[in-house]
Amino acid sequence: MPLNPVASVRPAGRLEVIAGPMFSGKSEELMRRVRRATIAGIKVLVISHSLDTRSELSTITSHIGVNIPAVPLSDIDSLAEAAHGEDYDLVAIDEAQFFGPDLVPVVGDIIARGADVIVEGLCVTFDGGPFEPMPTFMAIAEDVLKLTAVCTICGRDAVFHQRLPARESKESSQLSATAIDASHIGGLESYVARCRTHFSPGAIK
Ligand code: ADP
Ligand code: MG
Repeated sequence: MPLNPVASVRPAGRLEVIAGPMFSGKSEELMRRVRRATIAGIKVLVISHSLDTRSELSTITSHIGVNIPAVPLSDIDSLAEAAHGEDYDLVAIDEAQFFGPDLVPVVGDIIARGADVIVEGLCVTFDGGPFEPMPTFMAIAEDVLKLTAVCTICGRDAVFHQRLPARESKESSQLSATAIDASHIGGLESYVARCRTHFSPGAIK
């Protein structure tokens, strides 16, 4: 019998956050951490959102085409089920913003059961607002990495991304910037990274 019975309970895991605008290297950083964990023999579950159709469904892919295997899921319930299905040491979630604010308690539960969690996603919408749940995760995490992209006009740090005119006209202009839909999926053909000076959402540039 341990002196302190609580000491025998699996301690809670850690929450790590990787946040930033599009093109800031979030997926690259997530893949780097997952690769290291795999080398260390840690049991990892990598989850992507099945809305993200930029790559083969069973991978997460960076803008430069590097990828790692992932389990594509479309909702919170299947995410919770997958995370609790086996005794994972680490659960890594790509494009966490697609799962919406209900992801916060689900991640809390995974951590409470002892697994570490990395949530990676957009903390800012294409019109420059906060994109939940990432700001909430940033507030409660043990570790936060806030990344910036490179402004496509001046080369300075880009904390924003905005839609290109072609994408603007293709999508409904009433579309909410926080909607959980395919409007947040795209690459260089649809979005550009911008610094504070050159960020002008909706402008033809
Ligand atoms: P994220 O997941 O944050 O959207 P990725 O990890 O998929 O980003 O891709 C990052 C890569 O995108 C960079 O290493 C770089 O090769 C490429 N890239 C393209 N445009 C830019 C840009 N404007 N700023 C920074 N990286 C860019
Ligand atoms: Mg990414």
